[in-house]
This record gives sequence, structure tokens and C-alpha cells, in this order.
Amino acid sequence: MPTANGPKVPLDSLQQQLELLLVCSKCSVKENEITYHPQEVEHKCMYEILLARCRSRKNRGTAWRKVSRRPGFPNPARYAVCRYYVMGMGCNRHKNQCTFAWSVEEAMVWNFEREHQLERRWLKAAVLQAQLGAHSAATPHLTASAAGEITSEFGGHFQEICKRCFFGCPQRITVGGCGWPCETHHSWDPLLVHVVLDSQKKQQYTAIRPCPEFIDTLNYCRFVSRGQPCRHGPQRCQFAHSDVEMAVWEAEREQGLLRSDLLPSVGTGRANGKPAAPAPVQFYCNICLVTCSSQESFENHCSSIEHVQMLSADSSMQWVHRAPPLGLTRFSLCSR
Ligand SMILES: [Zn+2]
Ligand SMILES: [Zn+2]
Ligand SMILES: [Zn+2]
Ligand SMILES: [Zn+2]
Ligand SMILES: [Zn+2]
Repeated sequence: MPTANGPKVPLDSLQQQLELLLVCSKCSVKENEITYHPQEVEHKCMYEILLARCRSRKNRGTAWRKVSRRPGFPNPARYAVCRYYVMGMGCNRHKNQCTFAWSVEEAMVWNFEREHQLERRWLKAAVLQAQLGAHSAATPHLTASAAGEITSEFGGHFQEICKRCFFGCPQRITVGGCGWPCETHHSWDPLLVHVVLDSQKKQQYTAIRPCPEFIDTLNYCRFVSRGQPCRHGPQRCQFAHSDVEMAVWEAEREQGLLRSDLLPSVGTGRANGKPAAPAPVQFYCNICLVTCSSQESFENHCSSIEHVQMLSADSSMQWVHRAPPLGLTRFSLCSR
């Protein structure tokens, strides 16, 4: 959470163009992925979500827009709004991998952060100070949990799946734990994943690998940043492959985040005190973000027009894993 004694933030210059406000899920109503309506409620605010609104009438910008975390990569000279973004539908080209801003307001804040080399937490601290100064009666209780901050910032949810199944080929999503081992691997070695379901029922699974222990400064993987597959190997690479992975790593290091706080509390999904049987194994296409319940339907998917079109659609997408080979009827591990 924001603290004092950070760098000086020249907030005035930004505030000439934008109004800024920190809210939480209790004191704002979400209309779509970028539009929020702040509301007055009696509550202990978590101040997790940064909103911005244009001051100029020209932009007809009377709505508050959510300002997400600035993407760790790429690092363009100026941030711009994605041409393929449709309000309420998301980006129809880069999907969940879109690294462009989704509103003028967001682009302005990102350009400001970049110009002044500001970390988001320093900007939030300055905004909060300005915001509470205006209603000085309220003394803040900065009790926002690190887990709550990440969940409200990235949406979706976290869960544990079989690590070997997820990093295997083809990729599989195997849920287990609580006494249920992976049926393929006869053991339970979990991997934390961040799961986002979008409005078109696509599911994106992002691995949150263990935070690297012996590296002083956390960084993004240079291969993945360039949109290439990681050549360190995803399980050995010590660099972040996504913003959500970086956010979890930072929170673990700086705020003592426990991974268990990100997971749904134990006891959900249980019947009569006994853990319920986990959902069946799913095959996962990380290009189309769809899951299939059998190897056969997965192979059918891989030869479908939809999949082939996605493969050739946009080479600028950032792939973390290789695409499953086309036209094969059985998959096996490379002997090398
Ligand atoms: Zn609030
Ligand atoms: Zn986009
Ligand atoms: Zn497994
Ligand atoms: Zn890497
Ligand atoms: Zn596919």
C-alpha cells in the first residue's frame, strides 16, 4: 500500500488534464471493463482501483475510466489507445494479451508514469494524499491486503493445477489437491495459475511460477517481452512472463503476500466435509484459449478452421508456449 517518503510526484501537471480518484469494489459500480461509477457508501475503503476522468469538454469524457497497471512490456515511445478495442467487448485482436491502453485517460496516465519514471504505488500514494486532503475528516485505514489488491487489479481468480500437466505437451489443465492426486502423474505437485474468463467464454491460464530467490531485481523475460517463446525454458526461467506474475512476485517480496491468500478458502467445493472429486482433466489450446474434454476433441480443435485462423492471425501476439503441432494424431515428448 502507498506510504509516505516516496519520490516527489508532480501530480499537478497530470491533474490539469485529468481528475484522479482511488476507489474499491465497494464504492464503485463497474459498468464495463473500463467504465466505473463511484458511489458514496459507508465502508472501509481499500483504495485499490485507480480511476481517471478527462477535464476537457472536447473529449466528452464525463465517464470515469479504470487505469490498469502499465504493461511491463513493450515500452513504446508513447502509449496509445488500441484500435481494436470495443467498449464492452474487449480487444478483438490482441484479446487478453493487448498491451495498448483502452482509453485516452489510461494512455495519459501511462505516458505520465513513463515520463516521470514513476512506479504505480508512488502515483497511488500521491493521488490518495490529494484525495484525502480534500476530505480531511476521514483518516484512512490502509488495510488493503496484497491479495485483494491483485485480485481487484487483474480480475479473474487463482487456482492450483498439476504443474507437469500444464507444462507438458499437449497442455492440460488438471485440478486436484485435497487428497486428490493427478491421475496421470500419481502425485500432486501444484502450480498456481491465474484464470481469466472473458465475455466470449475464452479461458486464459497464466502460470504464476515461484518467485525467483537468488535474483536481486525482478525483471521481465527478454524473450517473452519480444513476443518470442522463452528460451530459458518456462520452468527454469527466472524472469516474469506476465504482468500478473510480476505483481504476485513483487507482493511476495515487498508485502509478504502468501499464495494461499490468493486461493479460494478451503472448504468451498466440499460436500459433507469430504473434498469433492476434482473436475476432469481438460486439454488446453493456449492460442484460442479454449479447453477440450478429450484428446480426440482437442485434435479436432487443432485441425479446425478457427484454430488455423488464430495461428496465422497475428504474429505480433506474445506466445509463452509453442503451439501444438498440426496434423499429428498423437503427441509425445521430444526425446531430447
Ligand atoms: Zn472504497
Ligand atoms: Zn489490442
Ligand atoms: Zn499431472
Ligand atoms: Zn523466460
Ligand atoms: Zn486452438
